Amino acid sequence: IEESEKFRIEYWSLEEAKLQRMPKPKALATRVALVTGGGSGIGKAIAQRLAAEGACVVIADLNADNAAAVAEELGGPDKAIAVTVDVTSEEQIAQAFAEVALAFGGVDLVVNNAGISISKPLLETTAKDWDLQHAIMARGSFLVSREAARVMRAQGMGGDIVYIASKNAVFAGPNNVAYSATKADQAHQVRLLAAELGEHGIRVNGVNPDGVVRGSGIFAGGWGAQRAATYGIEEDKLGEFYAQRTLLKREVLPEHVANAVFTLTGGDLTHTTGLHIPVDAGVAAAFLR
Ligand code: NAD
Repeated sequence: IEESEKFRIEYWSLEEAKLQRMPKPKALATRVALVTGGGSGIGKAIAQRLAAEGACVVIADLNADNAAAVAEELGGPDKAIAVTVDVTSEEQIAQAFAEVALAFGGVDLVVNNAGISISKPLLETTAKDWDLQHAIMARGSFLVSREAARVMRAQGMGGDIVYIASKNAVFAGPNNVAYSATKADQAHQVRLLAAELGEHGIRVNGVNPDGVVRGSGIFAGGWGAQRAATYGIEEDKLGEFYAQRTLLKREVLPEHVANAVFTLTGGDLTHTTGLHIPVDAGVAAAFLR
Protein backbone atom coordinates (compact mmCIF):
# COMPACT_ATOMS: atom_id res chain seq x y z
CA ILE A 1 0.00 0.00 0.00
CA GLU A 2 1.44 3.39 -0.99
CA GLU A 3 2.13 6.00 1.65
CA SER A 4 -0.44 8.43 0.16
CA GLU A 5 -3.11 5.72 0.06
CA LYS A 6 -2.38 4.83 3.68
CA PHE A 7 -2.76 8.49 4.62
CA ARG A 8 -6.07 8.69 2.74
CA ILE A 9 -7.48 5.64 4.54
CA GLU A 10 -6.32 6.86 7.96
CA TYR A 11 -7.51 10.38 7.31
CA TRP A 12 -10.97 9.35 6.15
CA SER A 13 -11.53 6.78 8.86
CA LEU A 14 -10.59 9.44 11.39
CA GLU A 15 -13.09 11.88 9.87
CA GLU A 16 -15.75 9.20 9.80
CA ALA A 17 -15.11 8.30 13.42
CA LYS A 18 -15.40 11.97 14.34
CA LEU A 19 -18.70 12.25 12.51
CA GLN A 20 -20.07 9.20 14.25
CA ARG A 21 -19.11 10.56 17.66
CA MET A 22 -20.76 13.94 17.06
CA PRO A 23 -24.13 14.27 18.76
CA LYS A 24 -26.96 14.19 16.26
CA PRO A 25 -28.23 17.70 15.53
CA LYS A 26 -31.71 18.04 16.95
CA ALA A 27 -33.09 19.66 13.84
CA LEU A 28 -36.71 19.40 14.92
CA ALA A 29 -36.15 20.07 18.62
CA THR A 30 -38.69 22.86 18.89
CA ARG A 31 -41.40 21.27 16.80
CA VAL A 32 -44.48 19.16 17.43
CA ALA A 33 -45.27 16.56 14.77
CA LEU A 34 -48.49 14.60 14.27
CA VAL A 35 -48.37 11.43 12.18
CA THR A 36 -51.64 9.80 11.11
CA GLY A 37 -51.39 6.03 10.96
CA GLY A 38 -48.24 6.34 13.09
CA GLY A 39 -48.95 3.07 14.89
CA SER A 40 -47.65 0.84 12.11
CA GLY A 41 -45.40 0.46 9.09
CA ILE A 42 -44.27 3.62 7.31
CA GLY A 43 -46.03 5.94 9.78
CA LYS A 44 -44.26 4.28 12.71
CA ALA A 45 -40.88 4.72 10.98
CA ILE A 46 -41.70 8.40 10.35
CA ALA A 47 -42.67 8.92 14.00
CA GLN A 48 -39.44 7.22 15.14
CA ARG A 49 -37.30 9.39 12.85
CA LEU A 50 -38.98 12.68 13.78
CA ALA A 51 -38.66 11.80 17.48
CA ALA A 52 -34.97 10.92 17.00
CA GLU A 53 -34.51 14.37 15.45
CA GLY A 54 -35.91 15.96 18.58
CA ALA A 55 -39.59 16.55 17.76
CA CYS A 56 -42.41 15.85 20.16
CA VAL A 57 -44.57 13.35 18.32
CA VAL A 58 -48.28 12.55 18.26
CA ILE A 59 -49.21 9.07 17.06
CA ALA A 60 -52.71 9.53 15.64
CA ASP A 61 -54.13 6.15 14.71
CA LEU A 62 -57.39 4.22 14.61
CA ASN A 63 -55.58 1.33 16.27
CA ALA A 64 -55.29 2.58 19.87
CA ASP A 65 -53.04 -0.28 21.08
CA ASN A 66 -50.46 0.19 18.34
CA ALA A 67 -50.47 3.96 18.80
CA ALA A 68 -49.96 3.63 22.56
CA ALA A 69 -47.10 1.14 22.08
CA VAL A 70 -45.26 3.46 19.68
CA ALA A 71 -45.77 6.49 21.96
CA GLU A 72 -44.39 4.48 24.88
CA GLU A 73 -41.41 3.33 22.82
CA LEU A 74 -40.64 6.95 21.90
CA GLY A 75 -40.35 8.06 25.50
CA GLY A 76 -43.85 8.55 26.88
CA PRO A 77 -45.92 11.65 27.63
CA ASP A 78 -43.17 14.31 27.55
CA LYS A 79 -41.96 13.18 24.13
CA ALA A 80 -44.77 11.27 22.47
CA ILE A 81 -48.48 10.76 22.96
CA ALA A 82 -51.05 8.53 21.30
CA VAL A 83 -54.41 9.85 20.16
CA THR A 84 -57.07 7.50 18.88
CA VAL A 85 -58.62 8.95 15.78
CA ASP A 86 -60.54 7.80 12.74
CA VAL A 87 -59.49 10.21 10.00
CA THR A 88 -62.88 9.87 8.32
CA SER A 89 -64.48 11.71 11.27
CA GLU A 90 -64.38 15.52 11.43
CA GLU A 91 -65.30 15.44 15.12
CA GLN A 92 -62.55 12.98 16.04
CA ILE A 93 -59.96 15.00 14.12
CA ALA A 94 -60.96 18.23 15.90
CA GLN A 95 -60.81 16.35 19.22
CA ALA A 96 -57.37 14.95 18.39
CA PHE A 97 -55.94 18.41 17.61
CA ALA A 98 -57.48 19.73 20.85
CA GLU A 99 -55.73 16.92 22.80
CA VAL A 100 -52.46 17.81 21.09
CA ALA A 101 -52.87 21.49 22.00
CA LEU A 102 -53.35 20.49 25.63
CA ALA A 103 -50.37 18.15 25.65
CA PHE A 104 -47.82 20.11 23.61
CA GLY A 105 -49.31 23.58 23.04
CA GLY A 106 -49.76 23.31 19.27
CA VAL A 107 -48.60 21.52 16.16
CA ASP A 108 -46.02 22.42 13.49
CA LEU A 109 -45.75 19.36 11.30
CA VAL A 110 -48.50 17.02 10.14
CA VAL A 111 -47.97 13.84 8.12
CA ASN A 112 -50.95 12.38 6.25
CA ASN A 113 -49.97 8.74 6.23
CA ALA A 114 -53.02 6.75 7.43
CA GLY A 115 -54.34 4.43 4.80
CA ILE A 116 -55.73 1.13 3.64
CA SER A 117 -55.47 -0.56 0.28
CA ILE A 118 -58.44 -2.09 -1.48
CA SER A 119 -56.80 -3.80 -4.42
CA LYS A 120 -59.32 -5.36 -6.74
CA PRO A 121 -59.90 -5.52 -10.48
CA LEU A 122 -62.26 -2.89 -11.83
CA LEU A 123 -65.27 -5.19 -12.23
CA GLU A 124 -64.95 -6.46 -8.64
CA THR A 125 -64.59 -2.98 -7.09
CA THR A 126 -67.87 -2.05 -5.45
CA ALA A 127 -69.23 1.43 -4.74
CA LYS A 128 -68.69 0.63 -1.05
CA ASP A 129 -65.00 -0.19 -1.70
CA TRP A 130 -64.59 3.07 -3.61
CA ASP A 131 -66.28 5.12 -0.88
CA LEU A 132 -64.27 3.55 1.98
CA GLN A 133 -60.97 3.96 0.17
CA HIS A 134 -61.76 7.60 -0.62
CA ALA A 135 -63.17 8.32 2.85
CA ILE A 136 -59.88 7.33 4.49
CA MET A 137 -57.28 8.59 2.07
CA ALA A 138 -58.79 11.42 -0.02
CA ARG A 139 -61.38 12.84 2.38
CA GLY A 140 -59.43 11.86 5.53
CA SER A 141 -56.23 13.59 4.49
CA PHE A 142 -58.23 16.65 3.34
CA LEU A 143 -59.92 16.87 6.77
CA VAL A 144 -56.63 16.42 8.66
CA SER A 145 -54.88 19.04 6.49
CA ARG A 146 -57.74 21.49 6.92
CA GLU A 147 -57.55 21.20 10.71
CA ALA A 148 -53.74 21.43 10.59
CA ALA A 149 -53.96 24.58 8.45
CA ARG A 150 -56.50 26.10 10.85
CA VAL A 151 -54.18 25.53 13.82
CA MET A 152 -50.98 26.54 12.01
CA ARG A 153 -52.52 29.76 10.69
CA ALA A 154 -53.74 30.66 14.19
CA GLN A 155 -50.25 29.99 15.60
CA GLY A 156 -48.75 32.29 12.92
CA MET A 157 -45.45 30.41 12.72
CA GLY A 158 -45.87 28.55 9.43
CA GLY A 159 -45.63 24.78 9.37
CA ASP A 160 -45.29 21.65 7.29
CA ILE A 161 -47.86 19.28 5.88
CA VAL A 162 -46.60 16.11 4.21
CA TYR A 163 -48.64 13.56 2.27
CA ILE A 164 -47.47 9.97 1.96
CA ALA A 165 -48.95 9.44 -1.48
CA SER A 166 -47.55 6.78 -3.82
CA LYS A 167 -45.96 6.07 -7.15
CA ASN A 168 -49.53 5.01 -8.00
CA ALA A 169 -50.55 8.68 -7.79
CA VAL A 170 -48.83 9.15 -11.13
CA PHE A 171 -48.48 5.73 -12.76
CA ALA A 172 -51.28 3.30 -13.47
CA GLY A 173 -51.20 -0.40 -12.69
CA PRO A 174 -53.83 -3.13 -12.80
CA ASN A 175 -56.21 -4.13 -10.01
CA ASN A 176 -56.21 -1.16 -7.72
CA VAL A 177 -58.33 1.53 -9.30
CA ALA A 178 -59.86 2.76 -6.01
CA TYR A 179 -56.52 2.96 -4.17
CA SER A 180 -54.62 4.66 -6.98
CA ALA A 181 -57.38 7.20 -7.61
CA THR A 182 -57.18 8.32 -3.98
CA LYS A 183 -53.41 8.66 -4.28
CA ALA A 184 -53.84 10.90 -7.33
CA ASP A 185 -56.33 12.92 -5.29
CA GLN A 186 -53.76 13.28 -2.49
CA ALA A 187 -51.08 14.34 -4.98
CA HIS A 188 -53.27 17.16 -6.23
CA GLN A 189 -54.16 18.16 -2.67
CA VAL A 190 -50.40 18.74 -2.19
CA ARG A 191 -50.34 21.28 -5.03
CA LEU A 192 -53.70 22.89 -4.17
CA LEU A 193 -52.83 23.35 -0.50
CA ALA A 194 -49.30 24.52 -1.31
CA ALA A 195 -50.87 27.23 -3.50
CA GLU A 196 -53.30 28.34 -0.83
CA LEU A 197 -51.14 28.08 2.29
CA GLY A 198 -47.80 29.33 0.96
CA GLU A 199 -48.42 32.94 1.94
CA HIS A 200 -48.86 31.75 5.55
CA GLY A 201 -45.46 30.03 5.55
CA ILE A 202 -47.07 26.59 5.47
CA ARG A 203 -45.27 24.25 3.12
CA VAL A 204 -47.08 21.25 1.66
CA ASN A 205 -45.10 18.43 0.09
CA GLY A 206 -45.50 14.76 -0.74
CA VAL A 207 -43.52 11.56 -0.71
CA ASN A 208 -44.25 8.88 -3.30
CA PRO A 209 -43.07 5.48 -2.07
CA ASP A 210 -43.26 2.24 -3.99
CA GLY A 211 -42.90 -1.40 -3.04
CA VAL A 212 -42.37 -1.03 0.72
CA VAL A 213 -43.10 -4.67 1.46
CA ARG A 214 -41.31 -5.48 4.71
CA GLY A 215 -42.85 -3.74 7.71
CA SER A 216 -45.93 -2.62 5.78
CA GLY A 217 -49.33 -3.51 7.21
CA ILE A 218 -50.89 -2.86 3.82
CA PHE A 219 -48.79 -5.60 2.22
CA ALA A 220 -49.26 -7.97 5.16
CA GLY A 221 -53.02 -7.38 5.08
CA GLY A 222 -53.68 -8.93 1.67
CA TRP A 223 -52.01 -6.77 -0.93
CA GLY A 224 -48.80 -8.78 -0.65
CA ALA A 225 -50.60 -12.07 -1.31
CA GLN A 226 -52.44 -10.55 -4.25
CA ARG A 227 -49.25 -9.09 -5.76
CA ALA A 228 -47.32 -12.33 -5.22
CA ALA A 229 -50.08 -14.28 -6.99
CA THR A 230 -50.03 -11.81 -9.90
CA TYR A 231 -46.25 -12.28 -10.32
CA GLY A 232 -46.39 -16.02 -9.64
CA ILE A 233 -43.89 -15.92 -6.74
CA GLU A 234 -43.88 -16.78 -3.04
CA GLU A 235 -45.06 -13.90 -0.84
CA ASP A 236 -41.84 -13.92 1.20
CA LYS A 237 -39.86 -13.31 -2.02
CA LEU A 238 -41.82 -10.14 -2.82
CA GLY A 239 -39.35 -7.68 -1.24
CA GLU A 240 -36.49 -9.14 -3.25
CA PHE A 241 -38.67 -9.23 -6.39
CA TYR A 242 -39.56 -5.54 -6.02
CA ALA A 243 -35.89 -4.69 -5.41
CA GLN A 244 -34.88 -6.35 -8.67
CA ARG A 245 -37.40 -4.19 -10.57
CA THR A 246 -35.73 -0.98 -9.36
CA LEU A 247 -32.89 0.95 -10.98
CA LEU A 248 -30.85 0.73 -7.79
CA LYS A 249 -31.67 -2.97 -7.20
CA ARG A 250 -32.48 -2.03 -3.62
CA GLU A 251 -35.42 -2.86 -1.43
CA VAL A 252 -37.34 0.17 -0.15
CA LEU A 253 -37.99 0.02 3.61
CA PRO A 254 -40.19 2.21 5.83
CA GLU A 255 -37.14 4.08 7.15
CA HIS A 256 -36.27 5.26 3.63
CA VAL A 257 -39.67 6.96 3.40
CA ALA A 258 -39.04 8.47 6.84
CA ASN A 259 -35.70 9.84 5.60
CA ALA A 260 -37.54 11.76 2.87
CA VAL A 261 -40.03 13.20 5.37
CA PHE A 262 -37.13 14.40 7.49
CA THR A 263 -35.36 15.91 4.47
CA LEU A 264 -38.51 17.83 3.55
CA THR A 265 -39.27 19.09 7.03
CA GLY A 266 -36.14 19.12 9.17
CA GLY A 267 -33.40 19.83 6.68
CA ASP A 268 -32.55 22.73 4.42
CA LEU A 269 -35.45 22.55 1.95
CA THR A 270 -36.95 25.73 3.37
CA HIS A 271 -37.98 27.05 -0.06
CA THR A 272 -39.63 23.92 -1.39
CA THR A 273 -43.39 23.48 -1.54
CA GLY A 274 -45.78 21.56 -3.80
CA LEU A 275 -43.13 18.90 -4.48
CA HIS A 276 -43.33 15.10 -4.48
CA ILE A 277 -40.19 13.11 -3.71
CA PRO A 278 -40.19 9.56 -5.09
CA VAL A 279 -38.83 6.95 -2.68
CA ASP A 280 -38.91 3.97 -5.01
CA ALA A 281 -35.24 3.20 -5.78
CA GLY A 282 -35.84 4.60 -9.26
CA VAL A 283 -38.93 2.71 -10.44
CA ALA A 284 -40.80 5.82 -11.57
CA ALA A 285 -37.80 7.24 -13.41
CA ALA A 286 -37.50 4.72 -16.21
CA PHE A 287 -39.37 2.15 -18.19
CA LEU A 288 -37.48 -1.13 -17.92
CA ARG A 289 -38.01 -3.68 -20.66
P1 NAD B 1 -49.90 0.11 7.48
O1 NAD B 1 -51.15 -0.68 7.35
O2 NAD B 1 -48.73 -0.53 8.15
O3 NAD B 1 -50.21 1.50 8.20
C1 NAD B 1 -51.40 2.21 8.01
C2 NAD B 1 -51.86 2.78 9.33
O4 NAD B 1 -53.02 3.59 9.09
C3 NAD B 1 -52.28 1.71 10.35
O5 NAD B 1 -51.65 1.96 11.60
C4 NAD B 1 -53.79 1.87 10.46
O6 NAD B 1 -54.31 1.56 11.74
C5 NAD B 1 -53.95 3.34 10.13
N1 NAD B 1 -55.31 3.64 9.67
C6 NAD B 1 -56.05 2.96 8.78
N2 NAD B 1 -57.26 3.53 8.65
C7 NAD B 1 -57.29 4.59 9.49
C8 NAD B 1 -58.26 5.58 9.82
N3 NAD B 1 -59.48 5.56 9.25
N4 NAD B 1 -57.96 6.53 10.71
C9 NAD B 1 -56.73 6.55 11.30
N5 NAD B 1 -55.77 5.64 11.05
C10 NAD B 1 -56.05 4.67 10.15
O7 NAD B 1 -49.50 0.50 5.99
P2 NAD B 1 -48.22 1.21 5.34
O8 NAD B 1 -47.74 0.38 4.22
O9 NAD B 1 -47.26 1.65 6.36
O10 NAD B 1 -48.91 2.47 4.63
C11 NAD B 1 -48.83 3.79 5.13
C12 NAD B 1 -49.12 4.77 3.99
O11 NAD B 1 -48.13 4.62 2.96
C13 NAD B 1 -50.48 4.57 3.31
O12 NAD B 1 -51.07 5.82 3.02
C14 NAD B 1 -50.09 3.86 2.03
O13 NAD B 1 -51.05 4.06 1.01
C15 NAD B 1 -48.77 4.53 1.71
N6 NAD B 1 -47.95 3.78 0.76
C16 NAD B 1 -47.48 2.54 1.08
C17 NAD B 1 -46.68 1.88 0.14
C18 NAD B 1 -46.10 0.55 0.42
O14 NAD B 1 -45.42 0.04 -0.49
N7 NAD B 1 -46.31 -0.05 1.57
C19 NAD B 1 -46.40 2.47 -1.11
C20 NAD B 1 -46.92 3.71 -1.38
C21 NAD B 1 -47.67 4.36 -0.44
